[in-house]
Amino acid sequence: MDTSKPRVAIAGILHESNSFFRRPTRLTDFDISRGDQVPAAYAAGASEIAGFLDGARKFGFEVVPVLVAWATPGGPVETQAFEALTTELIGTLKAQPHLDGLLLALHGAMVSDEFPHADAEIARRVREAVGPGFPVVVTHDFHGNVAPDMIRYTDVLLSYKTNPHIDQHECGTKAARILHQILTGRARPVQAIAKPALLYNIRFQNTNLEPLRSIVDESRMLERDPRVLTVSVLGGYQYADTPAMGASVVVVTDNEPDLARAEADRLGRMLWDTRDRLRLDLPDAAAAVRQACASS
Ligand SMILES: [Zn+2]
Repeated sequence: MDTSKPRVAIAGILHESNSFFRRPTRLTDFDISRGDQVPAAYAAGASEIAGFLDGARKFGFEVVPVLVAWATPGGPVETQAFEALTTELIGTLKAQPHLDGLLLALHGAMVSDEFPHADAEIARRVREAVGPGFPVVVTHDFHGNVAPDMIRYTDVLLSYKTNPHIDQHECGTKAARILHQILTGRARPVQAIAKPALLYNIRFQNTNLEPLRSIVDESRMLERDPRVLTVSVLGGYQYADTPAMGASVVVVTDNEPDLARAEADRLGRMLWDTRDRLRLDLPDAAAAVRQACASS
């Protein structure tokens, strides 16, 4: 163990769960990497895990790779699978003689048989295991349906900014950079979340196009403010019948709670103001079938 370097655990449990889909997602559906398998499987890729690893190298962390598990989007995760993965994650964290922080990738739209917001349950258990004051930085997919409790269990929550997703790696390195700022005493993150009562159909979730483009651009502008650590605008995932389903804004500032609250609310209002532009103009079932037949 190199005691001069901060020891940072890297982990991920990622699933986008369609709660309307009947086939459950089982433990055998998950691709699982453990320990040294994690950098072997992820270091060369474009994921947030690769970003964590790159950031860890850049900021001089001693990496403790724990567990990365992901499965193809599907039905809710079976309780047995959820418990097995979460127990292994927490057991491995607790077995470490010393850790200084955690970089944890969660999709944000995982549903289990028992927990409609399974990511929040993972974060809750992690916080319970590591205690208050231990830095936990969590990343989410743009499609996360963020349960408000997530910001209580984590120090920093940030998501990809883009859909189609092209910035997962950048999101991971940013998470590592913020953790570095925390560990060197240069940042004391506080977070606020806004959840306007809005559901974005997937057709309106392309962040290269309006109405979301200008709001994501605004989140980038806001990040130029030195008091702001990170700003996330999440489109949400519509195929989940869960209490916190829908769009979210999460603003993390450096010990400026009023600023975090005000900016989360401002961007939340920007989302809300798009509601008149979200009407779908799609053919009904019969017309869709006619169109499909005509195009074949
Ligand atoms: Zn996604």
